[in-house]
Amino acid sequence: EAAIEIEGLTKTYRATGGAPGKTALDGVSLRVPEGAVFGLLGPNGAGKSTLINILAGLVLKTSGRVAIWGFDQDVNPRNSRAAIGVMPQELNLDPFFTPRQTLEVQAGLYGVPRARRRSDEILETVGLSDKAHAYARTLSGGMRRRLLLAKALVHDPQIIVLDEPTAGVDIELRQMLWAEVRRLNAAGKTIILTTHYLEEAEEMCDEIAIIHHGRVVAHDTTPKLLARL
Ligand code: ADP
Ligand code: ADP
Repeated sequence: EAAIEIEGLTKTYRATGGAPGKTALDGVSLRVPEGAVFGLLGPNGAGKSTLINILAGLVLKTSGRVAIWGFDQDVNPRNSRAAIGVMPQELNLDPFFTPRQTLEVQAGLYGVPRARRRSDEILETVGLSDKAHAYARTLSGGMRRRLLLAKALVHDPQIIVLDEPTAGVDIELRQMLWAEVRRLNAAGKTIILTTHYLEEAEEMCDEIAIIHHGRVVAHDTTPKLLARL
């Protein structure tokens, strides 16, 4: 079964204040199989974040169809939301919230039972237990990333989307994130990650789609795709 099916997806951002409108996605069709680690590879500006933000329900598409576990996203937005956890690229956290508070709020938003216990469990998973009560503004970039990952996981989604999780991070954190992706995938989760590092896609992904100027220019299993490059 497909975890995600995307057909003819387009996104044109509206023109604002003198800036022209921008077509970020120009007819993207993709099928992400259940249980895959699926890589979206492409240079900056290719449209990767736009695609992820549409999946996450954060950006409205212009046209096309997105189905999650066979449910049309427009018809079942709540199902879609519950099925997906997104680790965003921007380290956007409330500076005066602690990791524990951040996760409890997130758990509340998703109706997760026993929010406090779940928050502590997930802080443990990402190695942030000792920072549970520190204000986010005191956390390093690496710790913020761990917290954003924890936020994405708190409602135990079946599909986990990571937007450039390792861009600009040190080796230790990259290895931690890779190990976490492998652990989640081994537990049956479908993973989508964007990257502009070919080596990362090669190392982590079963399938790779290459996006350029808002179009899928190649998509195959990783060995077949690499053989063609
Ligand atoms: P839309 O209403 O078309 O979905 P958004 O609400 O996503 O657009 O974005 C609002 C505005 O923020 C955009 O029209 C743009 O001016 C600005 N903006 C945000 N991110 C970017 C970016 N990466 N590049 C250019 N402009 C941006
Ligand atoms: P990537 O994640 O691959 O770097 P993005 O999806 O962020 O690509 O951006 C694709 C294109 O859309 C870029 O040209 C970017 O400037 C533009 N863009 C992204 N967000 C907005 C926005 N909110 N408003 C206007 N243009 C945007």
